[in-house]
Amino acid sequence: AKNAGRNRIAFFELTMQKKIEERLAIEHDLALAIAAGQMEMVLQPQVDVYGNAVGGELLMRWTHPVRGPVSPAIFIPIAEESGIILQLGNWTLHQGCQALVRLAAAGRQMDLSINVSPHQFRQADFIEQVRAALAQAGADPTHLILEITEGLLIENIEDTIDRMLELARLGIRFSIDDFGTGYSSLSYLKRLPLFELKIDKSFIQDMPRDPDDTAIVQSILSMAKHLRLRVVAEGVETRQQADFLMAAGCDAMQGYLYARPMPIDKWMQTEMTLTGE
Ligand code: C2E
Ligand code: CA
Ligand code: CA
Ligand code: CA
Repeated sequence: AKNAGRNRIAFFELTMQKKIEERLAIEHDLALAIAAGQMEMVLQPQVDVYGNAVGGELLMRWTHPVRGPVSPAIFIPIAEESGIILQLGNWTLHQGCQALVRLAAAGRQMDLSINVSPHQFRQADFIEQVRAALAQAGADPTHLILEITEGLLIENIEDTIDRMLELARLGIRFSIDDFGTGYSSLSYLKRLPLFELKIDKSFIQDMPRDPDDTAIVQSILSMAKHLRLRVVAEGVETRQQADFLMAAGCDAMQGYLYARPMPIDKWMQTEMTLTGE
C-alpha cells in the first residue's frame, strides 16, 4: 500500500511535469504564431430584434501546424501570463481596423467589437496603439467598440476612466464584457463612458428554464435600460432564449442560433439578415 502511494505521487509529479512542459511549448509557439501566419480573426455577428446584423465581435483563432486549432480558452490565458497578449492585442487592433475598412468598402458597414485584455489596456502607449491602428488602416473610429472586463474597474479606476474618456473623444465606444461575472461594484456604471453591457453566456445557457439566471438577466436588462446602455446577450443558442431576450428588451443577440464565428471572407458572402431558422 505504501508503494502504491509513492507511485501515485510519482505519477502526479510526472503529470505536473508534463503539464508544465506542455505550457512552455505552447508559449514558445504562440510567440511565433503571428509571424508564421497561424493567427486569424473570425467574426461572429450580433443580430438585432429584426434579424439585422448590426455588429460583430472579432475573435482570435490559432491554427497550430501540429496541434491543429487551439482554443482561445487555452492560449489566451497563456498569452496573458507570458505578456504575449501585448503583441497579439496590437495585432488584433490592426486586423480589426482593416476589417472595418473592408466591410465599409463592400457596402456592409457595421460596428466591430474587439476584446482588449486588461494588460494591454494598461500599457503606457495603449492610446497611441489604437490611434496608429486606426490611422494606418484609415478606419472610422465611430464603428469601433472595445470590449473590456470588470477586472479593469477594480484597480486604478481613475486611470481607466481617463483613458476611456480620451478614447471616447476619438469616437470609440466601450462595452463591459462578461458582465456580472466579475467582482467589481456597480458604482462604476455611472462614472464610465459606457455604451454597452454584454451578458455572459453562463447566464444565458440555462435560461429561461432556470429561474435564477432568468431573474439575473431580467435585472441586467432593466438596469441597463434605465442607464441607457445597449445590451448584447452572448451565447444565444436556442429560439426560446432569443424570444425571451427580445421580449425582455435585449438590444442584440450573439450566438450559435444565428451564426458561429466565421472567417471574414465567409462573412462577406453571408446575408446581413439572420433569422436563426
Ligand atoms: P468572450 O469574449 O466572452 O467571447 C465569447 C465566446 O463565446 C467565444 O469563444 C465565442 O466563440 C463563444 N460563443 C459564441 N456564441 C456561442 C454560443 O452560442 N454557444 C457557446 N457555447 N459559445 C458561444 P472563443 O472564441 O473560444 O473565445 C473565448 C474567450 O477568449 C473570449 O470570451 C475572450 O475572452 C477570449 N478571446 C478570444 N479572442 C480574443 C482576442 O482577440 N483578444 C482577447 N484579449 N481575448 C480574446
Ligand atoms: Ca468578448
Ligand atoms: Ca471575455
Ligand atoms: Ca463571455
